[in-house]
Amino acid sequence: MSTSRSSAPPRAGAAVSGPMGIFGGTFDPIHYGHLRTAFELVQALHLPEMRFMPAGNPPHRDPTVASNELRLEMVRVATEGQPGFTVDDREMRKSGPSYSVETLAELRAEFPARPLCLIVGMDAFLGLPSWHQWRDLLSLAHLVVAHRPGWRAPSMGPLGEMLVDHGTGTVGDLHEAPAGRIFIHAVTQLEISSTDLRALIGAGRDPRYLMPEGVRRILLESGCYARKEVARG
Ligand code: ATP
Repeated sequence: MSTSRSSAPPRAGAAVSGPMGIFGGTFDPIHYGHLRTAFELVQALHLPEMRFMPAGNPPHRDPTVASNELRLEMVRVATEGQPGFTVDDREMRKSGPSYSVETLAELRAEFPARPLCLIVGMDAFLGLPSWHQWRDLLSLAHLVVAHRPGWRAPSMGPLGEMLVDHGTGTVGDLHEAPAGRIFIHAVTQLEISSTDLRALIGAGRDPRYLMPEGVRRILLESGCYARKEVARG
């Protein structure tokens, strides 16, 4: 029986070396689109660790529907048993907004030489210039951009220039330097979104086969996405 647990990140300074993937998101709820992307990146980029980092209070988005505790529990259950998948709840433990640049600075302080790979979807990458201190991100980590349907890499503007200066198609570059490269990688497209899942569950339909069974059980039992009755006055 495997003794590896996915829910606790390896201790700082523990024996894991090689690039750490950092997969942030609201995970409201986590689904197979997230998990398949993370898994394919682990395999393709030879990442010994993919750290799921649920956002606490994302600056650009509405508050989450499920509580921090439930989202964290769903991420833990979803990633359990997959070697290399770990969960880090540091952003949820912060009271204010959690900016990627601050999270990466914390990780960099804990892992001074280890390559860090921040995973972003192409849609998020295209919005990068609106991120807090976005130009500092590459001094702290690599960016790994996972394609989603309908998105093309920018060839002009600040992101186009950044790609010319920092882009690479060589996996080895992500292992050699601790930060500073942009790697674009196509992943299997699963047309699942958390927004659609919440609507589906709210409409009383069953999310079976769109997420791990353990996640489905938690969200159905908690009723966190069930349609709320509007109180009549
Ligand atoms: P929502 O619909 O609420 O916006 P989401 O699933 O797109 O939810 P997050 O949970 O914040 O949003 O996503 C975390 C990361 O996972 C983002 O980088 C996003 O681009 C990526 N992602 C989301 N859905 C998929 C999918 N089906 N396939 C691949 N990547 C995905």
